[in-house]
Amino acid sequence: MANTSFSTLPISREQIANLDSLGYKKMTPVQALSLPHVLKGTDLIVQAKTGSGKTAAFGIGLLEQINPRFFGVQALVLCPTRELADQVGKELRRLARSTANIKLVLLCGGKPFGPQRGSLEHGAHIVVGTPGRTQDHLRKETLKLDGLKTLVLDEADRMLDMGFFDVMTEIISQTPKSRQTLMFSATYPNAIKKMCRSIQRKPVTVTVEAEHKPGVIEQLFYEVKKHERNNTLLALFEHYKPETTLVFCHTKKQCDEVARFLRDHRIEALAIHGDLEQRERDEVLVQFANNSCSVLVATDVAARGLDIKLLQAVINYELPRDPEIYVHRIGRTGRAGETGIALSIFTESEQLRVNAIEQDQKKPCIYDVYASLDRDPDFSLQAPMVTIQLDAGRKNKMRPGDLLGALTGDAGLNGSQIGKIDIFDRSSYVAVERAALRQALIYLANGKVKGRNIRARKINQ
Ligand code: AMP
Repeated sequence: MANTSFSTLPISREQIANLDSLGYKKMTPVQALSLPHVLKGTDLIVQAKTGSGKTAAFGIGLLEQINPRFFGVQALVLCPTRELADQVGKELRRLARSTANIKLVLLCGGKPFGPQRGSLEHGAHIVVGTPGRTQDHLRKETLKLDGLKTLVLDEADRMLDMGFFDVMTEIISQTPKSRQTLMFSATYPNAIKKMCRSIQRKPVTVTVEAEHKPGVIEQLFYEVKKHERNNTLLALFEHYKPETTLVFCHTKKQCDEVARFLRDHRIEALAIHGDLEQRERDEVLVQFANNSCSVLVATDVAARGLDIKLLQAVINYELPRDPEIYVHRIGRTGRAGETGIALSIFTESEQLRVNAIEQDQKKPCIYDVYASLDRDPDFSLQAPMVTIQLDAGRKNKMRPGDLLGALTGDAGLNGSQIGKIDIFDRSSYVAVERAALRQALIYLANGKVKGRNIRARKINQ
């Protein structure tokens, strides 16, 4: 491995100081392998996952290329989902702190078009967007990409899975040929190889070894009859008692049914999938991230871009066909030195999928039996926090400090009873300890935040 100090890179001293202030003391493997090429302007194909530090691997590079005095879009990052675009935008803003006057605009679907057009009119240096909305802006000529220097395709495999090939091709056709193209993808199927050949010039390929040391994730497989899936799922909860769990299902309908089944058995669970309205999606993600929901039941697509730090268990309600998806799913537990557990339920007809996983991992899968699960009949799972939603957000100049101030001041809550605060354009969410919910709601019903009465409600699961 190359030297992993940021000071070995040809980047500004201000950026090195900024990285230091962010707590980035040394490069992650994907950064150490990519940044020297990115900074030379070379095209790159990078196989890396969310959590590997990949955003900074392209972000530090694209920021070095930007001329703040030229008011045109110089970097475009395309992401499959709005959640991922939000995360990437946040990280790029942190990285851009060392350079004065850099403007970044998010172009995501599910948001009103007008304000995005307004932001673009004021001049944006960096655009982070989802393909559909970015295409809309290009078609309406509210976005121009003729001065683009860097194009990043983040989670390119997922964008193709979601059917964005034509949209991406149209967007890319409106960028200069001289651009640098950085392709990030967790997997490297043929469709991606083909796309790379048509849009990149002499790309360098970077592959990062799996971040997990062997043994950090305990993997167990349970063979069951089809009608036993639900009961086995329940037995897994009653035996392992994980505090935070992601359950994977194939279909939207299954997600809803499994979440309902768990709730009917005293395990609070929420489902997330593509059929939810944007606001509902936001609320589910907020609740999972702030500890107001302990179990999330998701499809693969919906789970992409989830920013989850501590996940104790991943449960496969059904096995995916592709072993790479299995690896991606279970990689969401056992992060950052923690141990995690990956439990998979499968039926006889899915045995081939288990075999494929064995081949992929080059080691036998460990089978456990349902009968060996020691069930606690009194088990129930309720998240420690509850989320309150307020009808005021960024557009109303609401900041996290305003909420924290009101709740710890006049409302009399203790700072330790208040969790994560999320501010959206017109709405805010604050997590409070379950025991403090009543006190917080009584205050919010009568008292003021920022000198105003703001409508507040507990989000019902
Ligand atoms: P990403 O894979 O880009 O989603 O990054 C995962 C997390 O790692 C983010 O929370 C980053 O802020 C953080 N991160 C990125 N680079 C570094 C680094 N060199 N040192 C420490 N943390 C980092």
